[in-house]
Amino acid sequence: MVRARFAPSPTGYLHVGSARTALFNWLFARHEGGQFLLRIEDTDAVRSKPEFLEEILDSLRWLGLNWDGEIVFQSKRLDVYRAAAEKLLSEGIAYRDGNAILFKVIPGEVVNIEDIIHGTIQVNTLEIKDQVLIKSDGTPTYNFACVVDDAEFKITHVIRGDDHISNTPKQLLLYRALKLSPPVFAHIPLILGTDRSRLSKRDGATNLNDYRKMGYLPEAMVNFFSLLGWSPGGDREILQVEEIVKAFDLARVGKTGAIFDLTKLSWMNSQYLKAAPLETLLPLIQEALKGRGWWKGSFDPRWVEEVIGLYKERIETVEDFCRQTQGLFTDQVPYDPEAINLRLKQPEVANRLNAFADRLEKLNGWDADTVESACRGLAEELKAKAADLIHPARVAVTGRSVGPSLFHILAVAGKEKTLQRLRHAATSLCSAS
Ligand code: GLU
Repeated sequence: MVRARFAPSPTGYLHVGSARTALFNWLFARHEGGQFLLRIEDTDAVRSKPEFLEEILDSLRWLGLNWDGEIVFQSKRLDVYRAAAEKLLSEGIAYRDGNAILFKVIPGEVVNIEDIIHGTIQVNTLEIKDQVLIKSDGTPTYNFACVVDDAEFKITHVIRGDDHISNTPKQLLLYRALKLSPPVFAHIPLILGTDRSRLSKRDGATNLNDYRKMGYLPEAMVNFFSLLGWSPGGDREILQVEEIVKAFDLARVGKTGAIFDLTKLSWMNSQYLKAAPLETLLPLIQEALKGRGWWKGSFDPRWVEEVIGLYKERIETVEDFCRQTQGLFTDQVPYDPEAINLRLKQPEVANRLNAFADRLEKLNGWDADTVESACRGLAEELKAKAADLIHPARVAVTGRSVGPSLFHILAVAGKEKTLQRLRHAATSLCSAS
């Protein structure tokens, strides 16, 4: 049976690159009907922190990358590594240097790595120095603990970033010394920024959790990560996780860097938001509004749903939703100075906004259709175009020059807010600055 594993070190938050490595292992295991194990490489007692561990586990759960069986903690297995090193000592394959135990590398030998993605990679042992197995503080090195554990837990496939390629020949030597058979290796290309250099903050957040906080949906993240270095063939990009599992194949993973394109991720997320049912969006949006102190218990749930319905086609993230709807949920209108210059500074605008407010004030009903006919009727009387009222009114009420249909915005903004903001804009924002 296929057994893959993800082996994070809890010395930092889950990096997007690690999340993608976890995903590829999970996809491979699920595709093969095998198991996906989780091992925590926490032998560095100083740098490993419980809060990082919690965050990593939380992020994996959020992405839906469920693991099989118990989590293995390397920190609880120090005696296992020590026993393995002592065995090599007794066989004369390892030697002591102070309190440390080192593995003797015989120079001039060729190690062949058979990699699913890169083919055969040959490394001469002249390039490899003797390997520390157990450090003088008693803890094992990464390469040693990794080999002991991958063998003991019967890992069949090691899928990890290609920054680990240089470790693999060392690990292969250790498998041989321990008389264990090595797993199959697949080194996946690193994620690069849009300028093909190492992924950095410039390309977007590098902590997975930040995407969660910004209101990206886990389904969109999984879809996006799956296409970083892999492709199902054809040009379809929106794929449900079941489809990805079905199609996933390590042989289709490319050798070269996968580009992390935030614009593409945001586009993908907007597609998922558009398709998401209200039950999914409502709690996320409610949490985001609460986080900003914008949530009022007095909001009518149907009204909130209406606002979501009005905006969900045009948002990239939940954070983006909040930015666009601040003026509806709060009394603070986020006036965009450019929008004001563009739409409110023409000579006729103040009069038109006042006339519009007066006309709307007389309405009995308050819905998009009623507001629309009042607007069109007034525009005709003023010998103006409806757009001459619509654009300034959108800025006056939402602070923004772009957004959904004005009539629907006014319908959800309500009469009182609408009149007050149209008049406020006419008196305070329209005057030449
Ligand atoms: N703890 C290592 C890392 O996070 C694991 C590497 C491996 O998968 O072997 O890079």
